[in-house]
Parts: sequence; C-alpha cells; structure tokens
Amino acid sequence: MSKNILVFGEVRDGELRNVSFEAIAFARKISEDGEITAAVFGKDGLDEAANEMIYHGADRAVTVQDEKLETYTSEGYAQAALAVIDDENPDGIVMGHTSAGKDLTPKLASKLESGLVSDVTDIEVTGDNVVFTRPIYSGKAFEKKIVTDGMIFATIRPNNIAALDRDDSRSGDVSSKDVEIKDLRTVIKEVLRKTTDGVDLSEAKVVVSGGRGVKSKEGFEPLQELADVLGGAVGASRGACDADYCDYSLQIGQTGKVVTPDLYIACGISGAIQHLAGMSNSKVIVAINKDPEANIFNVADYGIVGDLFDVVPKLTEEIKNL
Ligand code: FAD
Repeated sequence: MSKNILVFGEVRDGELRNVSFEAIAFARKISEDGEITAAVFGKDGLDEAANEMIYHGADRAVTVQDEKLETYTSEGYAQAALAVIDDENPDGIVMGHTSAGKDLTPKLASKLESGLVSDVTDIEVTGDNVVFTRPIYSGKAFEKKIVTDGMIFATIRPNNIAALDRDDSRSGDVSSKDVEIKDLRTVIKEVLRKTTDGVDLSEAKVVVSGGRGVKSKEGFEPLQELADVLGGAVGASRGACDADYCDYSLQIGQTGKVVTPDLYIACGISGAIQHLAGMSNSKVIVAINKDPEANIFNVADYGIVGDLFDVVPKLTEEIKNL
C-alpha cells in the first residue's frame, strides 16, 4: 500500500521522545513504499531532531520553529500542525499516545473532520486493510478497528511497536516552514517534571512499583535501588500515593499512568482492577507479595510469595553480581 504518512515527533527538553521513532516504524507498517514525513516543532535547534527522525526511517522532515513552541500548548502546536498538514495533505497522521498526543490529536481530528484511532497497541496490514488493535474497558479487552473512509489518523501507545534501527547513513530533505503562531491564551512559565533519575516512567523499559505493602516513604528506597540497577523507573499504586509514601506523579492505573514496559515488578501491590488497568499489558510481570492469594498473581508471569523487604534487596544484589 502506498500512502504518504505524516509523523509528529515529540521534542522534550531538546530530546526526541522514543515514541516518536516508534511512530515512524508504525507509519512504515501502514505504508511500505509511501513517503514518511516527520514534523517537529519547537523554539530552536530542531535540525538535529529532524535528522534523528530521518535516521530512524523518515524520508524527510519539516520543522516549525517559534518561541511560542518552546513548550507544548494545544493552541500553539495545533497551529503549527494544521499548517504542516495543509501543506503536506497526507493520507495518514501518526503520533505517540502521550499527554501531548492525547491532547493535540482530538483537536486536529475535529478541525480536519477526520476520525481518530487512539492508543493503538498493534497493527496488521492485509492487502488494502489496515487493522488497528487498541485496548478497551481499561485494558480488560481489545478491539480491532479498520478505517474504511478518509484519512488514517492514529496515536500509538509507547513501548508497543519496536522502533526501526537507527541508521545515520540515511539522509533526507529537512525544510523549515514559516508559520505565524498567533498569541497564545495559555503561556507556560515553567515546567516541573518528576522523573526518576531521568528515566521517564511512561517510556521506561523496566518499572519497579510499590504499593501499600511498602509501608513508608523510606520503604521505597530498596525499590529505587532495584530500579537503578535495572536502568528503570519507580512507579506506585494509588494505595501508596494515598498513604503519602510517594508522589501522585508515580501512580499507575486507571486514574494514573498507563505503562507497558518490558518488565514490571509489583512489590506489595494487591492487584486491584484499577491498578491492573495501568500495567497488565506489560511484557513480563513479576509480583512480590506476602499473600499467596493476592490478585496480582493472576496477571503475573512470575510470582514470589514473600516479604518484599527480604526479596527486593536480594534481587538487587543478584542483579549487581551478573
Ligand atoms: P492494598 O490493596 O492494601 O495491597 C497491599 C498489598 O501489599 C497486599 O496484597 C499485601 O499482601 C501486600 N503486602 C503487605 N506487606 C507486604 C510485604 N512486607 N511484602 C510483600 N507484600 C506485602 N489504584 C491504583 O493503583 N491505580 C489507579 O489508577 C487507581 N484508580 C482508582 C480509581 C477509582 C475510581 C477507584 C475507586 C480506585 C482506584 N484505585 C487505583 C485504588 C484501587 O482500587 C486499590 O485500592 C489500590 O490499587 C490498592 O493499592 P495497593 O495494592 O497498594 O494496596
């Protein structure tokens, strides 16, 4: 199928988020031999990001630079995105299902009078049919969707579609588009971001999560050590956040973040349905819980019945010695 697809890359703190590269791989699946154009927006220095998008499989890239695009706002980014879409007239648009993607894409879809398939976790292309898979009912079931008419517009869940290998011998045209961004009604003065030593929870390959069983703020320390040796991030259940053992920015679940890491280690988490909604699609789940009847064991690939304060430090030591 030959379709021209536009992929929005997401630059944050000068760096492209990994899901931007996954979006290119996804676009390539939709359109094997069509043209993939990447679009990146920001205040300045976007050529590097544009070239990175090309190294990861885009054919060319368009940048829109403006002071008002320094941080994401739906108003500013929508103006830039609509101007690029107007120029490119793509057959499809793909973006990460991130906070920005969740905010921007419905706005664009309504302006373009297009449908939108959001939070896609898998794709199958058979002939002219593109079948999207996406979770529904908080991850308890999956639905398959086919776009029968109009533009293909999709957001993809981070960590589900493998990015293409980076190849810095690839080259492509990088053009800068002048867009007059009108004054914004919302101006972002400062962004305070909670990350665990730079590892973004929603994109981490390994997440070590603590629940009420962690019992205190200090109880999170062994979890942080385990996350550090694995190069991962720390997450939490709402039980732990409500008990003030950690910040709400770490909450995973129906009313928190949705994560799909390669490895999710749940420590002292009972496995309430609202928690499972945020992590049950992780590739490998390990549960550590004192209670052999805990529901978390029903979704775990590996279960350890035991006290997390014995098990977690031992795991950390073993991994350090590997
Ligand atoms: P608990 O259920 O109290 O479980 C603690 C577990 O720790 C137990 O299984 C216990 O056996 C184990 N344990 C205790 N000590 C140890 C030890 N030393 N070693 C090993 N194991 C130990 N929850 C979320 O997580 N995310 C959400 O987004 C979310 N959204 C919600 C939305 C709504 C509308 C509602 C009503 C609820 C929501 N909840 C959410 C709350 C959810 O229902 C549960 O109350 C919560 O997930 C429980 O957290 P927990 O597993 O940490 O605590």
